[in-house]
Amino acid sequence: MRRQLDLRTGRPVWFAYRVPSVHTAKLTRDVKADVAILGMGISGALIAEALTARGHSVVAIDRRGPMKGSTAATTALVQFEIDQPLTTLSGMIGRTKAEQAWRRSRLSIESLAARIQELGIRCGLDRRPSLYLAGNFFGSGELRDEAEARQRAGIHATYLTATQLKEQFGIERAGAILSHGNLTLDPRKLTAGMLRNALMRGARYYAPAEATEISDSKDEVVVATKDGPTITANQVVVATGYELTDIVPAAKHRIISTFAIATRPQPRRLWPDEAFIWEASDPYLYIRATGDGRVICGGEDEDFSDEAHRDELIEAKSARLSQKLARLFPDLDTEPQFAWAGSFGTTTTGLPYIGRVPRHPRVLAVMGYGGNGISYSQVASEVVASAIQGREDSDARLFAF
Ligand SMILES: Cc1cc2nc3c(=O)[nH]c(=O)nc-3n(C[C@H](O)[C@H](O)[C@H](O)COP(=O)(O)OP(=O)(O)OC[C@H]3O[C@@H](n4cnc5c(N)ncnc54)[C@H](O)[C@@H]3O)c2cc1C
Repeated sequence: MRRQLDLRTGRPVWFAYRVPSVHTAKLTRDVKADVAILGMGISGALIAEALTARGHSVVAIDRRGPMKGSTAATTALVQFEIDQPLTTLSGMIGRTKAEQAWRRSRLSIESLAARIQELGIRCGLDRRPSLYLAGNFFGSGELRDEAEARQRAGIHATYLTATQLKEQFGIERAGAILSHGNLTLDPRKLTAGMLRNALMRGARYYAPAEATEISDSKDEVVVATKDGPTITANQVVVATGYELTDIVPAAKHRIISTFAIATRPQPRRLWPDEAFIWEASDPYLYIRATGDGRVICGGEDEDFSDEAHRDELIEAKSARLSQKLARLFPDLDTEPQFAWAGSFGTTTTGLPYIGRVPRHPRVLAVMGYGGNGISYSQVASEVVASAIQGREDSDARLFAF
C-alpha cells in the first residue's frame, strides 16, 4: 500500500460533541469474510451498512481507527451541488454525462437522508438551502447560465439578482443561485451510527490494523496486514480515502491542502435559514452553521500536499477565513475557537472513481472525493453494493476506473 498521509492537523469542531463508541478488536489471527472493507471513515461505514443490510458478512479494518481520517476533518456541507458547475462539467465530459452526474448527486442526498431516518441515526440531520455566490470564477452572467443549465436537467435552481440577494439574505454580491434540499449533519455521529448498525448485523471491526498488501487470485483475495494476520475474502473494497493503494490507478488524482475554522456558539440569530453559503471564487470560501449556533467557515485551498507547509499556514489561513467571514457578516463574532487543516483529494473533472479495479475483478475501490466527498461516499455505497451483488448500477459506467 503506497500512500500514507498526515490527513489532518489542528482540532476540528466535531471534537466538541460526544460520539457513540464503535467497538473494535485487535486483529490477532487470520479471519475470513464475504467482503473485507479497508478504511472506516464515512465511505467504509456506508458500504459496511449497505452490505450487511443485504446479508453479506463483513470485516472492516482501519490503520488509525474508526472516524480518525478525513471524516473527522470534513466541514460536512452535504450538498448535491457538485463542486464542478454543470456548465463547466458539460464542457469537460459532454452535457449528457454531466447532467447524469448532477442528477445522481441529487438522488444520493435523498437516499442518504432516507437511510439515516430509517435507521434512526441521531446525527443532527437537517435540510438547508444553499447560496452559490458570484465571485471571481463565475460572475452574475455565468451564474444565470448555470441556473438555466440545472433547470434544463430537471434540477431546481433559482437565480437571485443582487437586489433579491440583499433583500432576502442581507448579502451584497452581484448575484447568486439559490438551491434547496442540501443536508447538514455531524459527520462523526453519522459514521458511528452507520458502523454501529452494521455491527448489530454481525460486521467485525479490527483497529488499528493496517493493510499492507492485496493479493487476488481466481478464487479469493487475501489482505496482508502490518502485524501479520491476514483477511481472506471473496471481494475487497478499498475505502482508504486519500491514502491510495498501489493497485488503484491514480494518474488523474492529486492532493491539495484545505483549511477551516469554527466560531463559538453565537448569541444572536444567524442569517436567514442558516443557508449554506459558497462562493464561485478561486480560492473559494464556504460557510455553514452547526445545530448549536457555531459558524464553520472553510476554504483558502492551496495547490500543494506538503503537510509541514500546510500546518505552518494554519494560523495565517484561520485569520484570513475569520476576516472573510466578518466581511460577509459584520455582526458575527468570527474569532476562531477551532482551527484545522486537511489534505484533500481531487480529480481532473471533480468526479470520483468508484468500481472494480481494472484487471483485479475481486477488488473494488472508491476514491477521488473533492468537496462533495460525503455525497460521493453515498453513491459509492450504492454502486459497490450493486456490483458485489452481481448487478450493475445504472450510473456505474460514469464513475468507473
Ligand atoms: C477540511 C475538509 C473539509 C471538507 N469539507 C467537505 C464538505 O463540506 N462536504 C463534503 O461532502 N466533503 C467534504 N470534505 C471531504 C470529506 O471529508 C471526504 O470526502 C470524506 O471524509 C472521505 O471519507 P473516506 O471514508 O473516504 O476517507 P477517510 O475518512 O479518510 O477514511 C479512510 C480511512 O482509511 C484508513 N486507511 C488508510 N489506509 C489504510 C490501510 N492501508 N489500511 C487500513 N486502513 C487504512 C484511514 O486511517 C482512514 O480512517 C472535506 C474534507 C476536508 C479535509
